[in-house]
Amino acid sequence: MLDLPAWPPLWPSISAAAFDCVNSGDWGRYDSAAVTQLQSRLTQMTGSATARTCCSGSAAVELALRAAGVGPGDEVITAAFDYPGNVRAIELIGGKPVLADVASGTPCLDLTSVEAAASPLVKAVVASHLFGVPADVVELKRICEDRGWFLIEDACQVAGMQIGAMQIEGRAAGSIGHFGTWSTGGSKLITCGSGGVIFASDDRSAARLNPILDRPSDAFAMPPLAAAMVLPQLDRLDEMNGRRSETAVFIRDHVLPEQTNWTWESGDRDKSAFYKVAFTVESTERRETIIAKAGQVGLPIGVGFRSLAGTSTRRCRKPVPLDRSQMLGERLMVLDHRALMIPPDRWDELASAFAKLVKK
Ligand SMILES: *Cc1c(COP(=O)(O)O)cnc(C)c1O
Repeated sequence: MLDLPAWPPLWPSISAAAFDCVNSGDWGRYDSAAVTQLQSRLTQMTGSATARTCCSGSAAVELALRAAGVGPGDEVITAAFDYPGNVRAIELIGGKPVLADVASGTPCLDLTSVEAAASPLVKAVVASHLFGVPADVVELKRICEDRGWFLIEDACQVAGMQIGAMQIEGRAAGSIGHFGTWSTGGSKLITCGSGGVIFASDDRSAARLNPILDRPSDAFAMPPLAAAMVLPQLDRLDEMNGRRSETAVFIRDHVLPEQTNWTWESGDRDKSAFYKVAFTVESTERRETIIAKAGQVGLPIGVGFRSLAGTSTRRCRKPVPLDRSQMLGERLMVLDHRALMIPPDRWDELASAFAKLVKK
């Protein structure tokens, strides 16, 4: 069995931060130093107008939709292949999901299909960065601003990823949409068990969050102890993302070519924030066989998301073909970032675990 690095991280810096938070009494206050410090660090590091910590990434997406003013009868464009909680959030607040496809060669929203899905009822677009691949949020923001829509940029998987178009080098994922989201849930790149962040990119969007969150206490707060334990992980986020990226590139360039009929679906970036790396294989049956074998050798490989391509048109409007979303739903599988934290001196073990998946 492949030996995976510990997750969540067992760093002394995290225990020390928790200890200080408890001993100072900060853990038991509404106005805690830990939450204030975390929010201001997040605001600074992303260049957002504001960053508000909250109780989960799912809550962050729902609160962003509320702040965008989405309500009964409003339409929200989203990809037919995405984190399933996003469509749930749209429906829970009375909105109608409008399904667009994902772009060729990526797991992210396709802009042509977004434009083809336009209608006078559309109020917002939800776009997720998935498996280390950035959605084209810069162009999407332009489309949204032209039409008076809000862009909600789901960066729950990619804390610390930079959006790399030349003219905006260095802008943080989550800071480009009117609203952006991070998750600090148990499996994510930074964790406090359950938590999230809502970013607003400009003051007007930020002002829309206040009446939803502040009543007057923070209605969906991240507790101070959780915030204290996130801070030391933020200090090492670039370092950890760097390590995960190196392993991802090793898998892409040296392991994948040996796996017959596997296609890399995590993009061509050498440096990203890889929460999962994704592959497709030729059929659903083959995916099941591989996942079963992966379980036996200790490789954390599982299915990607179920696609919504087959959802009833009573639930969703489906104005465009959803072929690629459907294909990803049937054939995509993901490798968890715990495997990406295996250090370079043990990459041979990683490669031989992969080799066992293709043996008869
Ligand atoms: C995990 C995830 C979420 C939800 O985050 P939670 O903190 O688990 O609620 C939302 N969107 C995407 C793309 C995710 O991967």
